[in-house]
Amino acid sequence: GAKSSSPAESSVTVAVRVRPPNSAEVQSGRATNTVQVLDDHIVSFDAPPPGTASQSGRPPVPGERRFRDLRFAFDRVFGPEASQAAVYEATTKPLVAAVLEKGFNCSVFAYGATGAGKTYTMLGYDGVPGVMMFTMEELFERIEQLRDDRAIEVTISMLEVYNETIRDLLVPLGTRPQSLDAREQPDGEITIAGLTEHSPTNAAEVLALLGLGHQNRTMSPTCANATSSRSHAVLQIRLRQQPRISGLHTSIQLSKLSLIDLAGSERASATTNSGDRFQEGANINRSLLALANCINALGDASVSGTTKHVPYRDSKLTRLLKDSLGGNCKTVMIANVSPSDLHYEDTYNTLKYANRAKEI
Ligand code: ADP
Ligand code: MG
Repeated sequence: GAKSSSPAESSVTVAVRVRPPNSAEVQSGRATNTVQVLDDHIVSFDAPPPGTASQSGRPPVPGERRFRDLRFAFDRVFGPEASQAAVYEATTKPLVAAVLEKGFNCSVFAYGATGAGKTYTMLGYDGVPGVMMFTMEELFERIEQLRDDRAIEVTISMLEVYNETIRDLLVPLGTRPQSLDAREQPDGEITIAGLTEHSPTNAAEVLALLGLGHQNRTMSPTCANATSSRSHAVLQIRLRQQPRISGLHTSIQLSKLSLIDLAGSERASATTNSGDRFQEGANINRSLLALANCINALGDASVSGTTKHVPYRDSKLTRLLKDSLGGNCKTVMIANVSPSDLHYEDTYNTLKYANRAKEI
């Protein structure tokens, strides 16, 4: 059918990344049997080991474990050997072009349980840069190439959403950050009053800012992981572009790219905590659910061309990203999983979540 102009350009891409097994998983002897990458688009989950008699169509043998034996298809699947550069190129690079050339607002989300590889994918680890760094390096390069055509200013901000409050992550270490408010401007732009904006001009400055932001993230001890990140970390990169040829009207184009390292998706009940920690878990679940509902509504709208209610208001995270999830936006979700059955339920839940976020 005919598509209306604005949702037609929106798109949702869902990728899955299976990280290499860690030493505990290798020692368990069950490192890689839960998720297998079959090709660039398909993962199998809980397939019976080769040689297992078929379980379908016969009554279960008492005491026998039933394999779920599922296959999921995604826009892209990365196995344990996939490099950071390969993940960047296939997921985020096309969005950098859309933000720069079309003035779109775009978002990339890393989803998954604690320990599944979200921060590795987005931020990277010692000497192994992730999506955030690749994005900034590419932007610097492109801006340099385009300098005769347009003046392009880049500013970045980094915040976290923790327990439904927004905090600036780029304040000096030890500063107690205030809770900030997201406001929608008359033109639809979401702004956060008091959030610091930074203008790094080279990779070293970006690295320093990302390091500061990471150190400022809220870490709380839980039974699941002593330093698990219970907050959503959002890096926003804003571009302000102005053509050099001064015509009758020199239009300024604003666009932004949001790169989000989501809080761990493990269920609140998986950690035997109470009080504060339980409230945290409830808020994390609420925002991840709201995010899935928004992405889903956008996918539906772009397929049917109709305007569907998008439930942005259901969480702080989606309210904050309202201008980056609808209209002319491209959204990428990278769902991170462990290959091992030590994380069987988390992986199953992540694959189901990612499957649901897919454009139909
Ligand atoms: P999360 O942010 O989802 O809690 P991390 O990104 O911190 O998880 O990853 C957990 C551990 O696994 C870290 O030590 C990280 O370095 C390692 N890791 C994650 N993904 C990969 C990968 N693709 N290759 C190598 N090591 C990885
Ligand atoms: Mg993390």
